[in-house]
Amino acid sequence: MRDSSVGVYVHVPFCERVCPYCDFAVIGVPELPPAQETRYVDALLRELDSRSPVYRDPDGSAHRLASIYLGGGTPALLTPESLGRIVEAIRAVFPSDVPVETTLEVNPSTLERDRLPGFRAVGVNRVSVGVQSFDDGVLKRLGRAHQAEEAHLTLAACRAAGFQAISLDLIFAAPGQRLADLEADLRSALAFGPEHVSTYELTIESGTPFALAASRGQLPLPDEAEAIAMLETLEDRLRAGGFVRYEISNYAHPGFQAVHNRRYWERQPVLGLGVGAFSTEPRSAAAPFGARRSNVRDLRTYIDRIAQRLPPAAGPTEVFDAATARGEAAFLALRGSRGLLAAEFEGEFGQPPRAFFGPAIDRLVEAGLLDEVEGENLRLSARGRLLADSVFAEFV
Ligand code: SF4
Repeated sequence: MRDSSVGVYVHVPFCERVCPYCDFAVIGVPELPPAQETRYVDALLRELDSRSPVYRDPDGSAHRLASIYLGGGTPALLTPESLGRIVEAIRAVFPSDVPVETTLEVNPSTLERDRLPGFRAVGVNRVSVGVQSFDDGVLKRLGRAHQAEEAHLTLAACRAAGFQAISLDLIFAAPGQRLADLEADLRSALAFGPEHVSTYELTIESGTPFALAASRGQLPLPDEAEAIAMLETLEDRLRAGGFVRYEISNYAHPGFQAVHNRRYWERQPVLGLGVGAFSTEPRSAAAPFGARRSNVRDLRTYIDRIAQRLPPAAGPTEVFDAATARGEAAFLALRGSRGLLAAEFEGEFGQPPRAFFGPAIDRLVEAGLLDEVEGENLRLSARGRLLADSVFAEFV
């Protein structure tokens, strides 16, 4: 199988302030100095030039551009002019004969809101708004920089700016959050009427202030039963609102599934640019199952490496062997609502999943984390969706 399309992810590591649960590659900058912004965008464009040749056919023609995702961090802290430079450069390197989904992550803030028409003008056609909650108490306990009123204003401004699709992020199982709080969040989200909703259970990442607070017993998190009730409520309410859950955390109205995000779950190539960005490289004779690489997470190191014309990779490129590819294929398929289809898996790897993962599948079915449906096809149960990371660990 040959890959001939590419999605481009651009990581912008700046945030107004760093949330206490965040473990992304970010730095807090109350105001982004123009010189720092220009330096970073220049570095991104140099990285694009140096790495884009990997995403070419053997005859030298560039892969077709399927999607651009401007994420972070808070990429909308860059000006429309800077984002326009990035989008234009990507489009100049990778041609496309279809409309390219171009997503920008936006946090609710006055600065970003005022720039929305400018972002639309430089080609952004989809926004993903980091609402998280419409409850000021939940937002405060999460350490977010915004309040609910900002979220309402930003969503309205996104609609007024004319983006083709608006996605909003909601978090659940946050400190002190009750089921009734989440139900109120869902009512507010549905009243706005987004095309897409992403839902995330709060996870406590080691090394974050939340991890320290949790270890001291100072973080009042919902227990597993409450978290499952929240997950089921999310699914019920969004389904009743006309959304289809197409991935473990993602819901869309028909025709609005995220093109870019699907590339990760479907193991299609993604060129990741910037601090901490991950890339999935195309399959080739040297890497018949593809390859993965990640960039350094430190901003200064990234800028220095680019300035010295050194690769900003955090380590050697990982070339997938068959076993790694099988594990990835299995758990990524389980993320999707279709689940792991035995015939499809066998088509790629010669034998059905049970031939490679039989004991793990038995354990997970027995524990109520996986449902075996229509023969040997597998799907995550509601509990499995909540404990997905421990399910996936059985396949890698
Ligand atoms: S806004 Fe998002 S990326 Fe920035 S610190 Fe908070 S959670 Fe992390």
